[in-house]
Amino acid sequence: MTSPQSYTSLDAIDSHVQQLQATFRQGVTRPLAKRREQLQALYRLVDDNEEQLCQSVHADLRRHPVDTVLIEIASILHEIDDQLVNLEARTRPQRVAGTAVTIASTPMIRKEPKGVVLSISPWNFPLRLPLKALIPALAAGNTVLLKLSEVSVEATATLKHLIEKYMDPAVVRVVVGGPTETTHLLKHRFDHISFTGSTRVGQIVMTAAAQHLTPVTLELGGKNPAIILPDANLDLAVKRIVWGKLVNAGQICLSPDYIVCDHTTQAKLPVLFKKYVRQFYGDDPKQSPDLARIISDQHYQRLHQLIRDGPHAKRVVGELDAWDAIQRYVPPTLLLDVTLDDAVMQDELFGPILPVVPVTDRTAILETVQRHDTPLSLYLFSNDRQAIAQILDNTRSGSVCVNDVLRHYETNNVPFSAVGTSGNGRLNGRYGFDTFTHERATMISSANVPCDLLLEVRYPPFSGDSNKW
Ligand code: NAD
Repeated sequence: MTSPQSYTSLDAIDSHVQQLQATFRQGVTRPLAKRREQLQALYRLVDDNEEQLCQSVHADLRRHPVDTVLIEIASILHEIDDQLVNLEARTRPQRVAGTAVTIASTPMIRKEPKGVVLSISPWNFPLRLPLKALIPALAAGNTVLLKLSEVSVEATATLKHLIEKYMDPAVVRVVVGGPTETTHLLKHRFDHISFTGSTRVGQIVMTAAAQHLTPVTLELGGKNPAIILPDANLDLAVKRIVWGKLVNAGQICLSPDYIVCDHTTQAKLPVLFKKYVRQFYGDDPKQSPDLARIISDQHYQRLHQLIRDGPHAKRVVGELDAWDAIQRYVPPTLLLDVTLDDAVMQDELFGPILPVVPVTDRTAILETVQRHDTPLSLYLFSNDRQAIAQILDNTRSGSVCVNDVLRHYETNNVPFSAVGTSGNGRLNGRYGFDTFTHERATMISSANVPCDLLLEVRYPPFSGDSNKW
């Protein structure tokens, strides 16, 4: 394995795109046998090399391998299984009901590959995010160019190496690089672009895609609220929120970003927060092998400025002295009495920092959440059905999880969906398959002359002696 990162040259990028376009034009990826072959090769890639893949993520993020199996590997294998099992059903032309105007013909929808797909992915789930786009794109019969993140150096190098070893290079190519390489890549015409990353870069990608009228799937970020209502099982709510906030050291697009609750609930949070940090990571979380690190110096400095240097909440629960730039260690931190104007409430935090915004009533909860209009996910802890319905009816988000966090995306039977500033994507299972599929409206008409008599009414002339009306 090569560890120092080598970026793909601009010439190689051009040649990758040309190869993938040629493969698609030749129809290589259309037969189901070819799609199955590539999906099975990808399964072997992950299954045979699970340990190496987990170690590479550990080298980047110091994330425990068990966590990587749970939150990346298992989901990738499940997605491959799902696409393989459903391949024939998903690709079968769909017969649709006829109407009076479809007389003497059969209307249907052909499920066709879009062509060459570009997938651009971030560093925080360096295995799952590129592959969760690759799998449905292959199942749908496309050729795929993967632009892996330059930030997760080891995981990107490992995945590139394995893809080049296991996959057909005529069908899948990998580009490694940053903004320069991606900007060059985006000058090419693709048939679909899948982008996962920040809202800022999402805008850049969509603008570039517009030059070619290429459809874009965006999976972006946002500030995901965790609302705790007074009737919630508070102990369990905090246990789940602390877990969800600290997996991958809070560097997940779906991490609960901040808590909204009443003042009485806020007063009980410090004890419970400390209880679960200790239960999961011991007396000194810095020594725990289970707590990941911040990905880069740049991201560490961003959090440092926000919490250590900048004006932050009135009260901090966390080990301010434990911050460590060398290890890029940020201790689990709870911030109390945060207001909407505080710096920590402006952008997605992407770190193990949990602000609490105390409010007086449900109207104030709604106002707080509506401030960050369309987060990727919304978490709500309550057993009061009416209250749950009221909050869901008056808020928007890509997805919702009631009384838990993160778990709603583990099933392929719901889409990994986004809305507004958190994107427009729909991945997972058949939703991902549909994203990379062109539904081609198709009508097979009868070529029999007697049948044509049934359609006689459409032919001119419409007036005079031969008036058909
Ligand atoms: P990012 O937007 O900085 O980078 C994403 C990709 O874009 C990378 O491959 C990068 O090389 C490329 N890129 C960066 N700058 C570019 C530029 N100027 N021009 C062209 N390409 C450029 O995001 P990140 O820091 O890698 O990841 C974190 C972000 O991703 C967070 O906002 C997080 O919420 C989001 N995210 C979203 C999801 C989701 O499914 N919705 C999943 C994971 C991460």
